Amino acid sequence: MADYDLIIIGGGPAGLAAAVSARENGIDKILILERDNELGGILNQCIHNGFGLHTFREELTGPEYAARFISRVKEMNIPYKLHTMVLDICPAAGDPSRKTVTAMNRTDGLMTLSAKAVILAMGCRERPRGALNIPGYRPAGIYSAGTAQRLVNMDGFMPGKEIVILGSGDIGLIMARRMTLEGARVRVVAELMPYSGGLQRNIVQCLDDFGIPLKLSTTVVAIHGKERVQGVTLANVDENRRPIPGTEEYIPCDTLLLSVGLIPENELSGKLGVDMCPVTSGPAVNESLETSIPGVFACGNVLHVHDLVDYVSQEAEKAGKYAALYIQGERATAGGPPVQLLAVNGVRYTVPQILYPSQMEDTLTVRFRVGAIYKNCFIGVYLDGRQIARLHKNKLAPGEMEQVILKKADILSQMGHSQPDLKTITIQVERGEANGTA
Ligand SMILES: Cc1cc2nc3c(=O)[nH]c(=O)nc-3n(C[C@H](O)[C@H](O)[C@H](O)COP(=O)(O)OP(=O)(O)OC[C@H]3O[C@@H](n4cnc5c(N)ncnc54)[C@H](O)[C@@H]3O)c2cc1C
Repeated sequence: MADYDLIIIGGGPAGLAAAVSARENGIDKILILERDNELGGILNQCIHNGFGLHTFREELTGPEYAARFISRVKEMNIPYKLHTMVLDICPAAGDPSRKTVTAMNRTDGLMTLSAKAVILAMGCRERPRGALNIPGYRPAGIYSAGTAQRLVNMDGFMPGKEIVILGSGDIGLIMARRMTLEGARVRVVAELMPYSGGLQRNIVQCLDDFGIPLKLSTTVVAIHGKERVQGVTLANVDENRRPIPGTEEYIPCDTLLLSVGLIPENELSGKLGVDMCPVTSGPAVNESLETSIPGVFACGNVLHVHDLVDYVSQEAEKAGKYAALYIQGERATAGGPPVQLLAVNGVRYTVPQILYPSQMEDTLTVRFRVGAIYKNCFIGVYLDGRQIARLHKNKLAPGEMEQVILKKADILSQMGHSQPDLKTITIQVERGEANGTA
């Protein structure tokens, strides 16, 4: 059985940045396993620009952003295997501190590999039509937006000419612009929620700039056509997201693109038995991005769906560093009593979900998303009811990932006032005065 210090599952931006960071932190025997035919993950099909503004202070396309990390991996001679599907991860028999990774490709066949640590970086996949329960036949012309993106940008096929898009997350918005630039007519983007799930900049640059209408609180209630899509019926929905009778509108089209959410690829994580967060559908992690199984770390979209790849790279860099410390035996797992991070009052989730203050660096970036749009409000952070941070926000929206930076010194000083068995940090949205400041 081949032995490694670190095996990274997934060669997208998360896996690549984690590998570079682990090598920079002194880890030699690393292996990246990627099921696709090239490194780069979802970025390979994102040929629009807008990547890397934070990391490189430049506007790069997805493939350009990926190429920067791929070159680093190659310069550092970090080995990787393409066309390689990881099938299973489990604690090694006889030595549960090591992990056994089972993977398969055409050249090596079925492989059993051993590693001291594993980083989960498998990204996410799109929610399919089946999850939506839209009645009707199964005609040609229904695609997930990401599949259409791959067809147009990588394979050179146009999925259709008259398009309706359901879902206004970033992929739906970007595909509205892409299909328009390729000569199709995007008749409408329909969104179930009363707000878009995408970044504000994408609403402006992908819809407004091209005069594409966005219909909020609207869904597809019927798909027409037997062999090929001929049209869809849209209807407004009420506050419980149920279609309102009498509001139906028929839109002729030959293609329906679905952009109705992403699901982290966590079949391997679930089988391995790591604790999962029901809101993110990703593993629950501590301040070191370590899951409930020591030596198993997670980063990128497999952990929670990110809006910007720059944050994926930052997170992955951290996962690589902490995996390195774990491998070098320089970080005791789960030291001291943990503090639970609780998302309340409008905050949907936090990453990490727990933290060990004794093991924190001087500061910790906690990322989160809210469940609705809030204007002129505050993010309040409390340790056992005592405020440790407060941040003013002009606007919070579900489509944008937010962050708050916690200081170790603040946490430790407040912990002195806390009862030993009552340690929670709550992060919540608080309404502020119209002209309030932080
Ligand atoms: C349409 C679209 C537009 C976007 N636009 C922007 C933008 O403008 N700006 C921006 O900053 N970000 C943007 N993003 C977000 C950014 O692309 C993602 O956040 C980022 O790619 C996530 O990186 P990742 O490595 O976690 O996942 P991925 O890129 O999905 O990589 C995961 C990799 O793991 C591999 N894998 C999964 N399971 C296995 C397995 N069992 N065995 C082996 N390999 C496996 C997959 O093949 C994949 O290559 C966009 C994303 C999309 C989809």
